[in-house]
Parts: sequence; C-alpha cells; structure tokens
Amino acid sequence: MTPDPTVLAGPALWPAQAHVPSVLGRQIVIERGQGSYIWTADGRKLFDATAGLWHANIGHSRPELARAAADQMTRLETYHIFGRFANDQALALAERLAAMSPIPDPKIILNSGGSDAIDVACKLARRHWQREGRTTKTTILSREFAYHGLHAFGTSIGGLDFNREGYGTESLVPETARIPLHDLDTTAAIIAEIGADNIGALVTEPVQGTGGVNPPKEGYLTRLAKLCQDNDILLILDEVITGFGRTGTMFAAERFGVAPDLLTFAKGVTSGYAPLGGVLVSPRIWQPFYVDSDTTPVFRHGATYAGHATAAAVAMANLDILEREGLVERAGQLEIQLETALQDIARRRDSVREVRVCGFLGGIALTDRYDAVAVTDTLIGRGFVVRPLRGNTLQLSPPFITTDDELALLVAAIDDTLADLEGR
Ligand code: PLP
Repeated sequence: MTPDPTVLAGPALWPAQAHVPSVLGRQIVIERGQGSYIWTADGRKLFDATAGLWHANIGHSRPELARAAADQMTRLETYHIFGRFANDQALALAERLAAMSPIPDPKIILNSGGSDAIDVACKLARRHWQREGRTTKTTILSREFAYHGLHAFGTSIGGLDFNREGYGTESLVPETARIPLHDLDTTAAIIAEIGADNIGALVTEPVQGTGGVNPPKEGYLTRLAKLCQDNDILLILDEVITGFGRTGTMFAAERFGVAPDLLTFAKGVTSGYAPLGGVLVSPRIWQPFYVDSDTTPVFRHGATYAGHATAAAVAMANLDILEREGLVERAGQLEIQLETALQDIARRRDSVREVRVCGFLGGIALTDRYDAVAVTDTLIGRGFVVRPLRGNTLQLSPPFITTDDELALLVAAIDDTLADLEGR
C-alpha cells in the first residue's frame, strides 16, 4: 500500500509507541516546563498530571539541576567505568544509593534508564545461576499486564501482549513465562509445572503502572517473595516508577516489607533531568564476583555511559531536593488527598468503574460506555495532561510538588469532564 503523501511529509522524528498516521498532524509539541506545568509550541499551558512518563517528580526546569549539570560538564562531562577506571560522581552516587537502599549492603550498577536496568537485572539473574552451576535455571517469570520497558528482555517479559508481538517468536529472549496479576495459587501451579529448577527469576513492579495502575492486594508481595524464596527463584523488583518516593516511602519495597534480590530504578533518580537508571544488587549475587582470586568470574556487562558523571551529578542534586523539601513525605500526604477525592468521584459518577490509588499514583477505570482515550483528549483540551492506560484507565501521577489547590483543580476538571459525558 502506498503511504499517504501528507503522512510521508511528516517530521523526521519517528514517534515512540505510536500508530503514526493517527498522531501526525495532531502532535502536542512541548517547548517549556516549570514546576508542575508544561507549555506547548502553540502557547497553551497544561498541568502535567502524569509527570511526563512518571518521571518529573520534583517538577520541571529547576535551575539547581541545570547548574549541577553545567558545573559537572565544565569539569568533566564523563569518564567510563570499565576495568580500572571510575569517575568521582558515579562513585559518590553509588555510595548514596547504597545508604538509602532497601537491600542491605548492596552494590550498584548504573546505566541509562529503566529498560537498560531490566536488561541488566535479568542478565545478572541468569549469570548468577550459571555461575552457581545450576545451569537450567534460565526462565524469567513476569506478571500479566506488566511493563518492564522495551529493550530485548523488557519486550520478552512484557505482560502487555501487543508489546511482544511481531518479532517472529513469542519471546525475543528465549525462556520467559507469564504469571497472573494477583492469583498466587495459579502462580505456584505455574512454577510447579515449569519446575523451579528451570526458573531463574521472577520480575514484578510493586505497583503495576502502565498495565493500568494495579496496586498489589493485601499481603500479595510478601507472599510472592516467600514463594520465590521457597523455590530458590530470585526476586527482581522493578521500581522504575515507584522508586524515590512515588508510594510515600523512598522505595515501595519498604512500604510493602519485601526484600528483593535485585531492584531496578530509573526515572525518579534524576526526575528525568538526565537519562539514568540502575540496579541495586544484593550480597548473595555480588559477593562471588568480588572474591580475591584468579578464578573469580567477570560480569560481562557495561556501556559507555554506565555511571555517566553528569547524570550522576544531576541525580545527586535531585536527591538533595527530594530530601530538603520532604517530597517523599509530601507524596504520602498527596496519596490521601487523591484517594479521598477519587473515591468521592467514583461514588457519584456512573462512568467510573473503579479507582485504584497507591502513593501519589492513581488509576481511574471507566465503564465500557466511556472511552479513556476520548476523556484524555478532552482533559488535555481543558489544560490537564492525563494518559489512557490498559483497561480503559486514566493515569494520574503528578509531580510531588503539586499543591493542594492544583490537585483540587485537577480533580474538579476530571469530575466536570465525566459529568459532561454523563450528561449531568
Ligand atoms: N519498568 C517500568 C515499571 C516502567 O514503567 C518503565 C517505563 O515506563 C520501564 C521499566 C522502562 O523504563 P525506560 O522507559 O526508562 O527505559
């Protein structure tokens, strides 16, 4: 089929995760941001109720972060951390992350984002079992509707099927399998069927994000962790969204009382001011690679920008702000306000099937008669950026600096929009 010439004449930038002909000609081009607001190229001011892609936790365009980047770049943009080399910023950030880690005495692997972090965590889990001589423990389990980024491992373990399709095999990386969203009995049965001897790790988001904002049921994560422990399966907690305060504790692992073997992070570590992610690694996994012996194995992983000095300096400045302004506690307060307001809407509006809130992170699931995509477009037209997720759900994850008044305006805009749709 010959593509439409107007589509062919579109911008050179290939939009991510987009049905291209549907977005061309109606792209929302963002030129500027400040605090919880962004401005479009055609001059509209929008409240950023998603914090971009759940990243802008401290708000947009803060000069302190720009100064941290400029100071670092004019001293040293970066230096790699391969072999004997390191740079002072990567070392300092790793110390700071180790001190705040929910995994005791961890080592820190740094890289460029969440998909990167997932690739490393899955690779390291498999490397762990090969080194242990338990060579059949290769399968990686993940949950239905999970999103773990779109690199090769993330694509393969994704629980949103459309992200896995079209590559010729069920899983780009062989040996992955899905478990249900909540059902632990079925999960135990799947483990028994595949055989614990064939399973290396289980990956889960503490609160599923892109899959529709799905918080864990009461006790789910601790029981899942126990199931992993009983079967000698490594637990990888993907805290790319929840890390650095989104659920009202620095990491969701603390809120839910779970101690994973590996923990992935990204977004909130720099609030998006520099591309950075990484993995917290527990002693059980790192110690054998640190033994003082000629036969000690090497973990063959790394990238030019692993431990990027400017990204690390920016992360330090971001963590300073998070701590100085008490933003993790603030996210906890905002959770209560968000939950109260959304439950109130749910009680009054037939268009709402369910609201799910965990931390300053909410999902509003609409009934089938209403369309989250259309509601999103209407809300953007009214000056509020929300996002449609799986399950006809609206995503709400504003920056932690959101004021009470701003939250009230957001909730009122959602309520008005649903009222208009319901015709009352
Ligand atoms: N893991 C989770 C839970 C995510 O939500 C995301 C991105 O939204 C990723 C991994 C991938 O992160 P990135 O887009 O930085 O590669």
